[in-house]
Amino acid sequence: MNKEKLEAIKNELEDEKALLEVKIDTLEKGEDFGSDVDSLEEETDESEAWENQSSASQELRQRLADIDLALGKIDKETYGKCEECGEDLGAEMIQINSTSRLCRSCKRLAREGETI
Ligand SMILES: [Zn+2]
Repeated sequence: MNKEKLEAIKNELEDEKALLEVKIDTLEKGEDFGSDVDSLEEETDESEAWENQSSASQELRQRLADIDLALGKIDKETYGKCEECGEDLGAEMIQINSTSRLCRSCKRLAREGETI
């Protein structure tokens, strides 16, 4: 992978990271669920809302961790290689998901392993 391409990916990831941090911050500090409950029905709604909110922020945190990992790899010049076998991921995989950690075949193996 050439330097310019890598630089472009790095910029994209950094942009996304900044955006994610804002989103997580908003989600987690956001509305104060459950503090103003005056009926049972409302309470249920609010705890559901809280659950949705917390799983959404968990997803965002996971994505943030993936991005941090990818950025670290760019710095260490190991970006674009499979964590399992060390093969190049290939431009296609990176285009699909710029934080991919495994090549196509290792990914498939990992997925098969999960289903057992
Ligand atoms: Zn691999």
